[in-house]
Amino acid sequence: GGTGFVGRALTQLLRSRGHEVSHVSRHGGKDRISWEELSHSGLPLCDAVVNLAGENVLNPFRRWGDAFCREVISSRVETTKTLAKAIADAEQPPRAWVVVTGVGYYRPSPTAEYTEDSPGGDFDFFSRLVSSWEAAALIPGSPARGVVVRSGVVLGRGGGAISQMLWPFRLGLGGPLGSGLQPFPWIHIRDLAGIVCHALESECVQGVLNGVSPSSPATSNGTFAQELAAALGRPALLPVPAWAVRAVFGAERAIMLLEGQRVVPKHTLESGYHFIFPDLSGALKDIVA
Ligand code: NDP
Repeated sequence: GGTGFVGRALTQLLRSRGHEVSHVSRHGGKDRISWEELSHSGLPLCDAVVNLAGENVLNPFRRWGDAFCREVISSRVETTKTLAKAIADAEQPPRAWVVVTGVGYYRPSPTAEYTEDSPGGDFDFFSRLVSSWEAAALIPGSPARGVVVRSGVVLGRGGGAISQMLWPFRLGLGGPLGSGLQPFPWIHIRDLAGIVCHALESECVQGVLNGVSPSSPATSNGTFAQELAAALGRPALLPVPAWAVRAVFGAERAIMLLEGQRVVPKHTLESGYHFIFPDLSGALKDIVA
C-alpha cells in the first residue's frame, strides 16, 4: 500500500528520517517488489513491515455488491496474511510490524466514546472486516513487535475523502451529510504517517493505537462541513440528504458517512505521540491553503 494516499506520505516521512523504503505493489517499478515475489521468495531483509494496502471502500464508481465486497476484504485480509506469513517465515524477522485498520471497529453512536480498550468488531460488515484484518496480523510467538493503528477519516491534500469534497465546497454547494449530527472521526495525514513512524521507531509501543485527532470526539459531520467551508471562504448551506448518500453508495456503505464514532486516541497520547494538527481548523487551513 506504499503507493497509495497514506503510503506516499509515510514513505516521504520515513525517507526524510533516513530510512530506506521498498514497496510491495501489484505494479512493477523502482524500489518495488510484487506480492507474488513476496510469496515465493520471502521477505527481503528489513527492520519493519507496514501494511497500508486496501481497495478504496468509498469508490463511488464501484457498485456495492458481492464482487466489490470480496475485493474490499481480500485486499486487506489476504495482503495482511501474506505479510504475516512472510514475517513468520523470515530467518531474520523484522523488529516491528504495523497494520493500519479503521475505527469502523467501534459501533457508530452519537454519544458513546471509545478508547482502544473498548469492545467492538462484531456487529456489521465493517466491524467484522476490521476484526478479520487485525486477526490476520497476529503472529503468535513472533519477535516482531505488533502495532495496529485504527484510523479515522484521513484528511490531506491530493487524495482521500477531501479530494471528492473540495469541488462542491469550492462552488458553495457543500454541506453536512444527512443530519450532520453524526460524529466525524478524523486525522490529518501527517499525523497518521507520524503515528506509524512513531510506532516503528519507539521500541516500547505495542498493541492498538487509535489514529484520530484528540479533538475528533468533539467533531460532528456538520462541524466538519462548516470548518471546511470556512477554510475555503464559502458557505456550507446545502445538506446532502441521507437518501442521496444511500443512492450513490448503497445502504451498507452509506453507514460510514451517515453514522460515526466518537473515538479517543488514549493509548496514542499515552505512548508519547505529539499531534501536529490536534484541531480541525488548523488541519483544514493546512490542507486547502
Ligand atoms: P489507497 O486507496 O490510496 O490505496 C492504498 C494502496 O492499496 C494502493 O496504492 C494499492 O497499491 C493497494 N491496493 C488497492 N486495491 C488493492 C487490491 N485490490 N489488492 C491489493 N492491493 C490493493 O488507500 P489509503 O492510502 O487511503 O489507505 C491506506 C489504508 O488505510 C487502507 O487499508 C485503508 O483501508 C486504511 N484507511 C484509510 C482511511 C482513509 O481515510 N484514507 C481511513 C481508515 C483506514 P498498488 O496499486 O501499489 O498495489
